[in-house]
This record gives sequence, structure tokens and C-alpha cells, in this order.
Amino acid sequence: MNQLTRFTPSEVEALGRDRNFLRDQSEWLCPSCGEVSVRTYLRNTKHANRPAVISYTWCAACRKMTGSTSPLPPGLTISDPWRELDPVAWEQFDTSLPKLFARLDRLWEDGVLPQSIVWTR
Ligand SMILES: [Zn+2]
Repeated sequence: MNQLTRFTPSEVEALGRDRNFLRDQSEWLCPSCGEVSVRTYLRNTKHANRPAVISYTWCAACRKMTGSTSPLPPGLTISDPWRELDPVAWEQFDTSLPKLFARLDRLWEDGVLPQSIVWTR
């Protein structure tokens, strides 16, 4: 169960169609295993010098994941309590994907995640 695999393109499509994490941060039905265990973490970044957001979506039950980077929608503020809690681990987030998702699961179980998302428009 610790092996990470990727959601298939049709599973990613199903998630994108049915779920809007920016509006609803609760766990979601997994299109692969059927558990309500899909979680997302958003990370502020820059892409080509513009504000962007990396999104990691994974299932805590079957360990499937997907990630993407997109422009930060105007007016969106994403809190990142992990960064404040543990800046060193936060900086080293991309050294190992299995470690990253294990960490994100712990943060979720500890109530640090999901993060709060605020629209200021
Ligand atoms: Zn699953």
C-alpha cells in the first residue's frame, strides 16, 4: 500500500469534472478505489516569474496521485500552515514523492491540512 502510482488520465478527468477543491476542501470519492480519501495540497510557487500554484492530489487509501502546475487565479489566497510549522521539511518537499505524500497524510491527520483557501474578490 505504500507504492505510489499515478491516477490514469480518465481518473484525473473524473476528479476534475466532479470536484472543485478550491470550493470544497473535504476528502473526495476516489475514482480508482471508491474510498472517500482523495486529498489535495496546494503550494504557492512562481512559473515564468508569475504567481503559480502546484497542486498535489492523492488518495490516502490506494496511494494514487497526480500533480500539476497552473497560474494562480487572481484573487486567490492559499494559506500554507505546513510552511510555518516546519520550514525545513517544507523546503525539501520534492526530494522524494513517497516521503512527500506520507508527510502530507500526517499533516492531514493532524488537522494541519486541508489548508484554508480565501477568495478576495
Ligand atoms: Zn483510491
